Amino acid sequence: MFKRMLVLAALAALGSLTAHAQSRPTPPATPRIYIFDNGSIKGLDPKLFNFTREELKEVDFINISYLIVHPRGTLMFDSGAVADSHFKGDGQPVTEGIMSATKPLLPQLAAAGYKPSDITYFALSHYHSDHTANANEFAGATWIVQKAERDFMFGPKPQGSIVQEGSYEKLKAAKTKVLDNADFDVFGDGTVVLMSAPGHTPGHQVLAVKLAKRGTVVLAGDLFHYPEERTTGRIPTFEFNADQSRAARARIEKFVKDNNAQLWIEHDIATHAALPRAPQYVE
Ligand SMILES: [Zn+2]
Repeated sequence: MFKRMLVLAALAALGSLTAHAQSRPTPPATPRIYIFDNGSIKGLDPKLFNFTREELKEVDFINISYLIVHPRGTLMFDSGAVADSHFKGDGQPVTEGIMSATKPLLPQLAAAGYKPSDITYFALSHYHSDHTANANEFAGATWIVQKAERDFMFGPKPQGSIVQEGSYEKLKAAKTKVLDNADFDVFGDGTVVLMSAPGHTPGHQVLAVKLAKRGTVVLAGDLFHYPEERTTGRIPTFEFNADQSRAARARIEKFVKDNNAQLWIEHDIATHAALPRAPQYVE
């Protein structure tokens, strides 16, 4: 009888393990990027970016966030501009100032097969509020952040900085991997590398992902906002440190050239018009 109970207990344990395993998608053999639609920003003044209206093909931004799924885990990069909690559940878009969004983030993540608790690592390109809206949802992951960025996020901020501290306050207590102006090979095989690219903010970073089919992609955050910044070398008026931005751009552009990589400007409509949205993915 005792023996039979042990067998039953073992079977029950096995059953729950199997059920648990089935609740998560099978890890892919090579990295994937899922792209989430986090809305748009309209009514921007080109002067903020040192351009005239005529010099820009497109003034509006889109807001995007990305999930990287690697054989060894997952990394969420950025988290949208409008918090999921601000949606009323009536299918209506939410508009907050110049930002608007039609879809909350977590249902898009769920459609790709993932919950916030499935996310191994979380990283922000930078602390600006159009990238941090749902950051608190990922406080159960390991947060990868540059020291200068983290210090700024939880220190006294100058007036006018584009920040919503409440959107990321839970990260303060998250398990954290702090980098000091350094790159970080997230899964240890060189396919997913966070690269320090300061200037737009004190610890801005970009993400290089080596995909089996597409080749290397650099998720550039706000290293640039418009493609025209790459061709003219112009820097926005509101950078934390314009000299650092120039140096970071030069380093990342060299990486792009050396690796024959694609550079995806996070706010660029044209770049993302040619890419699928989750639950489809790029590999
Ligand atoms: Zn920004």
